[in-house]
Amino acid sequence: MALKTAKEYIESLRKLNLDLYLFGEKVENWVDNPVIRPSINSVAMTYKVAHESKNGALATTDSMLTGGKVNRFNALFKSTDELVSKVKLQRELGQRTGACFQRCVGMDAINAVFSTTYEVDQKYGTEYHQRFREWLKYVQEGDLCVQGAMTDVKGDRGLSPSKQSDPDMFVRVVERRGDGIVVRGAKANQTGTANSHEMLIMPTLRMREGDEDYALSCAIPTDAKGVHLIYGRQSCDKRKLEGGDIDVGNYGFGGQETLTILEDVFVPWERVFMCGECDFSIMMVERFATYHRQSYGGCKPGIGDVLIGATASMAEYNGVSRAPHIREKIGEMIHLAETIHACGLACSYEGWKTMAGNYQSNILLANVCKHNVTRFPYELCRLAEDIAGGLLVTLPSEKDLRHPVLGKYIEKYLKGVADVPAEERIRMLTLIHSMTFGTTAPSYRTESMHGAGSPQAQKIMIERQTDMDYKKKLARSLAGIDEREDVTA
Ligand code: SF4
Ligand code: FE
Repeated sequence: MALKTAKEYIESLRKLNLDLYLFGEKVENWVDNPVIRPSINSVAMTYKVAHESKNGALATTDSMLTGGKVNRFNALFKSTDELVSKVKLQRELGQRTGACFQRCVGMDAINAVFSTTYEVDQKYGTEYHQRFREWLKYVQEGDLCVQGAMTDVKGDRGLSPSKQSDPDMFVRVVERRGDGIVVRGAKANQTGTANSHEMLIMPTLRMREGDEDYALSCAIPTDAKGVHLIYGRQSCDKRKLEGGDIDVGNYGFGGQETLTILEDVFVPWERVFMCGECDFSIMMVERFATYHRQSYGGCKPGIGDVLIGATASMAEYNGVSRAPHIREKIGEMIHLAETIHACGLACSYEGWKTMAGNYQSNILLANVCKHNVTRFPYELCRLAEDIAGGLLVTLPSEKDLRHPVLGKYIEKYLKGVADVPAEERIRMLTLIHSMTFGTTAPSYRTESMHGAGSPQAQKIMIERQTDMDYKKKLARSLAGIDEREDVTA
């Protein structure tokens, strides 16, 4: 089982025949497109770390299916220790890219579909689990990149899938044939689709009677006939087309989301892992959501580390690093990032073994982790902007810096402390800008809010996972309303 190198991964993308659109135009050479390439580099980092002696143990493991060595992003979690390794790997990758490296969605989907299909088969005598194992072996053998596809476009949020005025608002089966099914619909906000070989479709919410066509899980190659990808815009994305490497900030890395259209895509039965079992859709949704909410306990503190480092550097460049209020604010940033990470580790250590044999992270703690992520990165950004100063949004451009006449003024007047050149100060500011306003900002602001589910989704899960009667019983006993516990008994 060969582990692809970063270079081999990037070359493998060239062989895909994607139907991909950006700014209203079809993109033929998307691998070298300057808007898209940083997002490819981020995924490529997941391949690179697997070959590093320092990170090999974090980034690879033995396949639960074959025993061969596989990239962790394609692996089933065999223990709580492996859940912990996942989170630590994600922190490392967040630190190295400063952006969303996209491959976690597939890893989390693989584990959720694996355990859910096992339990569906137990109840209905279906053969989804065996099919899934075969498909996963194919993915592991090719070290393919898989994108998990959950979020439907949803239409009227007050109506169930089958009650929508347009029946295509949730991905559905439109035809069942002897050799497979035909699938139609769209998935929104899809992370990393154009950088993946395969997408793993899952339902987006609990399905009820009448929604059978929507209780669907299957694997589709990203370049299958009928798949159309529309690349999502990011703030300041056109800075990447200006030719320089300063104004983009995080020039090398970025994230990626697409609107993925499935126009009557044929899927053979051996790639279908749920088809009509409404009562199991919520199990798949909750298990995937839990894994991905755990994931944020890795990537978000990792990206936070970069932002903290950039902010501390700016304090030095400005000559204020010893000021008590600056040190207090940077200390607060560290506290926020580590709190997120602590929750990611906690839900991993408190994981449990599923009937299928892989491990699931703790549902309550993973939801607490992600709920913190809907708040803390915003505070991290606020503190970074506070310390960086207003120049963050008023800097002249790289072209001004390089200008034969203007350049010397910028070098002179945009200097802070004497021994740091203005260009270094500007580069640090644009890095912070890219993480708080620019092209890598999605993974640190709105993506932190809505990725892996919006805040209310976690609140519902937190409430559902809490035994309130037990908590009330504790209080009633200590208050003397119920019988007090006798400590000597
Ligand atoms: Fe991975 Fe984080 Fe991106 Fe989700 S947001 S795919 S967990 S890097
Ligand atoms: Fe995400």
